[in-house]
Amino acid sequence: MENIALLAKWLQDSQSTVVFTGAGMSTEAGLPDFRSKDGLWKKKDPRQLASIDAMKRNPEEFYDFYRMRLHNLGLADPHKGHKILAQWEQRGLIKGIITQNVDGLHHRAGSNNVVELHGTLREAVCIKCQKVYPSDKLLEEKIPQCDCQGKIKPGVILFGERLPVDALEKADTLSRESKLFIVIGSSLEVSPANYFPSLARQMGAKLVIINLEPTMLDYEADLLIKGKAGEVLEQVEKLVK
Ligand code: NAD
Repeated sequence: MENIALLAKWLQDSQSTVVFTGAGMSTEAGLPDFRSKDGLWKKKDPRQLASIDAMKRNPEEFYDFYRMRLHNLGLADPHKGHKILAQWEQRGLIKGIITQNVDGLHHRAGSNNVVELHGTLREAVCIKCQKVYPSDKLLEEKIPQCDCQGKIKPGVILFGERLPVDALEKADTLSRESKLFIVIGSSLEVSPANYFPSLARQMGAKLVIINLEPTMLDYEADLLIKGKAGEVLEQVEKLVK
């Protein structure tokens, strides 16, 4: 059976499907990923800029990078793929989404059960007193400061930081209970996020990977679909009754 038709059948037959998304889910909405060649910013590696180390050593560049990302996010809307996933949740076809994305596009498309492993760009937080601000705070000052004199950082998990325990626990439960686990648009290079597809497979789920390029876990997948997230989801949606 052809790959798209097989995925549509598995989706319909599965009692517990979980979707796991990465930056490639949002490139069709105009938000660059980190690893494709278009993902680079000012010829710098975003993986270096989105780090605790960069925030301490080079704060002006760090905050400029996040202001650029907030600006891009202001221009972006969820695409058809995000909307299809939200409809699938409403129709009971998927249990939830585990995402590495910080753009909030799954929520904006109408998905409810979304685990944001890497936090969110919608908020900013003081690193000293943990006060939470709307992300606009990052646009107001070059290096934004809290009333307590602590630095305010974007509400995302930076390279070098621990992931939030509650998100890890929710992702763990979803992965263990899944019977079908669909990865969309992730290189699966970032850990510990990339642990969840393997966990789901070890617990007996079928693993499907939809991506433009090879990923770190292709060798574990039961089905590989090479293509654009939005286009593949649209094709699957046409076959799901
Ligand atoms: P990544 O950049 O490592 O990999 C993205 C993958 O998606 C690549 O393998 C690429 O080939 C593929 N891809 C690109 N466009 C695609 C499309 N239209 N359809 C299908 N596949 C496509 O991303 P990652 O694995 O998510 O890890 C990067 C880290 O960067 C994460 O921690 C994430 O938080 C962060 N990030 C988030 C955003 C966002 O929120 N939109 C954007 C950039 C980076």
